[in-house]
Amino acid sequence: MMSETANILVVEDEADTRATLSSILEDTGYKVTQLEKGAEALESVRSRSFDVVITDIRLPDIGGMEILELAKEINPEVAVVMMTGYASVETAIEAVNQGAYAYFVKPVNPDEIKTTISNALKQQRLSLENKRLVENLQRSNKLLLEANEEVQRATQAKSEFLANVSHELRTPLNVIIGFSQLMMDGASGKINKEQRRCLSDILSGSEQLLGLINDVLDLSKVESGKVELRLTDTVLADVIEWVANTMTPLFASKKQTLDVEVEEGLPPVRADEARIKQVLFNLLSNSNKFTADGGKIKIEAVRDGAWSQVSVIDNGIGIKEEEQERIFEPFYRVDSPATREGGTGLGLTLTRQIIEKHGGRLWVESQYGKGSKFTFTLPLSSSEETRDEGKDTDSRG
Ligand code: ADP
Repeated sequence: MMSETANILVVEDEADTRATLSSILEDTGYKVTQLEKGAEALESVRSRSFDVVITDIRLPDIGGMEILELAKEINPEVAVVMMTGYASVETAIEAVNQGAYAYFVKPVNPDEIKTTISNALKQQRLSLENKRLVENLQRSNKLLLEANEEVQRATQAKSEFLANVSHELRTPLNVIIGFSQLMMDGASGKINKEQRRCLSDILSGSEQLLGLINDVLDLSKVESGKVELRLTDTVLADVIEWVANTMTPLFASKKQTLDVEVEEGLPPVRADEARIKQVLFNLLSNSNKFTADGGKIKIEAVRDGAWSQVSVIDNGIGIKEEEQERIFEPFYRVDSPATREGGTGLGLTLTRQIIEKHGGRLWVESQYGKGSKFTFTLPLSSSEETRDEGKDTDSRG
């Protein structure tokens, strides 16, 4: 490592040249060690640390190249400057090719020496600084990777813990629901009006709790990678029709209309049908919940390159710009009369996870007070992709 005052070793058998050179360097403020013999130089390079080594190429005992080699081997950052007479300029050039910083042709020129050494030290400082920065970067990178692994492990542990707890909670809750239902049905004797009201509260509270537990369980299973998608070639038109029919009574109860518009000839997607039904069910229940009586809801499905794009559109209460990403966070719900009615705040988190597990994307566009459009993409089954090679194949932009 370079000290405050640079340490310079001068190896030169001619006493005059050695003295001149050393005094120029000492006057500049460097700490100079002068040696006459190559063997001594090798010994010195081995045992001490120099920032610069200036050596004659031809010494009586050994060649300067040997000193260069050893000095570089011991400290790759050291600047080695060769000194040569005109006769050995070629050897000096070869030395530069082998890692020497520069060479001087004797007799030495003081200005040239000062500039060369000062530049060598500057370059050395930069290179050391660079090395230090790269090392810091590598260290930080390693720490980041380790922290990331730790986070992944913690997330996995959290998901597994939640999955276990939810699973254990479901059993007693189902007992509560089952027996409240039985009592309400009069299976354990006649009940009065007040008892019925209490039982009905127990039942609806328990069912809400069960819904929450089921969502937590489902989400933690998806997050911990325990859910395997059962991918098949799925015809979206059929899935959409099935979900729309199943949910008709829900929309009818609020006098809302539900329109379906599926592009003709939309090719099948590669998807887990049950999961896509769950996604549509979540989005449509939200549209139903967050749209006033008499409102309009629409499902649209179109092709976009190698993707199918499905949108659920409503003219409901809409979502403020600043809430639009947050609603995908677990348990995040915008305060409104509709949210106060119930819900877990997990629906969209789970829905997005399911779509992303398929390789697709889910996003929202919305105008507060006017309505919302939730869109997700699903990959067309691969036979469709190859059939249409050459067309734009990425809708995920
Ligand atoms: P939940 O519906 O159980 O509250 P979600 O995760 O499905 O939970 O939705 C999170 C929040 O996003 C909702 O509470 C609501 O504030 C907002 N939101 C979702 N869908 C719509 C929609 N179609 N229109 C307006 N707001 C919506």
